[in-house]
Amino acid sequence: MDDRCPKCSLTFDVRKHRAFTPILRALLENDSKSPEARIEDSARVRCPGCGHEFPSDHVRFFGVFSRKQFYWVLVGFIACLMLFTAYVALSRP
Ligand SMILES: [Zn+2]
Repeated sequence: MDDRCPKCSLTFDVRKHRAFTPILRALLENDSKSPEARIEDSARVRCPGCGHEFPSDHVRFFGVFSRKQFYWVLVGFIACLMLFTAYVALSRP
């Protein structure tokens, strides 16, 4: 999975040069970042040529999802969680 550095246009393998917070840690960290910003953080790579860091579209989460796909997976998961919580809360006698 190769990506090109926007600064020096060196092409490199994003899997070998990720500068990321692991996605699970990024999601669980208690700060005010939006889910999108967290995913962005976890998709960061560092160019081996010039050291420039940028979020890559070629990073795959859990080996499958791209940044945008993972965002929707996450949104869907949160929606299900909220529905489930509401269901449990409402079904109490
Ligand atoms: Zn570079």
